[in-house]
Amino acid sequence: MAGGNNIFVLVKQVPDTGSKAGLNPDGTIDRAKAKRMLNPFDRYALQAALHAKRQYGGRVTAISMGPPPAVEILLECLEHGVDEAFLLSDRRLAASDTLATAYALYKVVQHVGKPDLIFCGLQTTDGDTAQVGPQLAERLGFPQITYCEDFHMEDGKVVGRRIIEGGYQKVVCSTPVLLTVANSYHPLEYKSFRGAWRVQQLQRKEEELKKFIHTIDLDTIGADCDRAGLKGSPTIVAWTEKVGDIGGHCVMHEGQAPDQMIKEVLDNSNVKEFLVA
Ligand SMILES: Cc1cc2nc3c(=O)[nH]c(=O)nc-3n(C[C@H](O)[C@H](O)[C@H](O)COP(=O)(O)OP(=O)(O)OC[C@H]3O[C@@H](n4cnc5c(N)ncnc54)[C@H](O)[C@@H]3O)c2cc1C
Repeated sequence: MAGGNNIFVLVKQVPDTGSKAGLNPDGTIDRAKAKRMLNPFDRYALQAALHAKRQYGGRVTAISMGPPPAVEILLECLEHGVDEAFLLSDRRLAASDTLATAYALYKVVQHVGKPDLIFCGLQTTDGDTAQVGPQLAERLGFPQITYCEDFHMEDGKVVGRRIIEGGYQKVVCSTPVLLTVANSYHPLEYKSFRGAWRVQQLQRKEEELKKFIHTIDLDTIGADCDRAGLKGSPTIVAWTEKVGDIGGHCVMHEGQAPDQMIKEVLDNSNVKEFLVA
């Protein structure tokens, strides 16, 4: 695998968890009020993609689906050393669930080229399903290494270390392969001065910038509109609820016989009766 790896990284813009994004009356996130940021989990995917490029050669393409402001995170990716980026932006994508999102991203990947490695974040901080990466791999017919916290390439294969309950699993895959990168992977390095300077220059000339960040729509990628957006989304959100601040008082009971600890918990709670099966 020397020289020419085609490396894709999927990144999503999410509401900044530190900002006070509320809910609309219909229960959807009021995204207009929220500050925006690169999904924190995607920072690990980006680091993995840049590491693969540095270590094994090739070029990195960032892909995102979202409204026009999502170009901000693609600029950030360029500052970090990504070579090129694609933003799929189309009003017909509104209300996409994970099935429709994975379909649309699958069509983008096919449009952009033949990847050897695709890196995704583990999950997002807004949708939080962790389904998009695996669904995309399935659609592409690629093997996948999920929850991957480290990897290297050996004899043309990817050797991944994935987290499993109580330990880790070593997975060896031929390329092309999709990896979802765990947040125990190396944190994203600082932007390079060169990268930041390059982006600053590009921003001065819109035509130049367009050579590196391509905004595309469903027609460009030949997607079936019935499989994207609301039409392609079988998920129904029944309701959403604002939970308010989560707090509370936690008491640990340990070092005594189980009966005694259960009694203490019950004595300090509102539970009047407790059935042991
Ligand atoms: C019924 C329903 C309606 C929705 N309506 C809207 C809506 O109107 N507007 C809206 O903005 N969102 C909407 N969403 C949320 C949005 O479509 C989901 O965020 C999207 O399906 C991705 O799922 P996720 O965030 O859980 O990603 P996860 O599966 O948790 O993400 C895993 C990884 O996949 C990649 N990834 C995920 N999404 C993208 C993306 N868009 N671009 C590039 N890479 C990505 C990233 O690498 C990410 O780390 C809706 C969701 C549902 C279920």
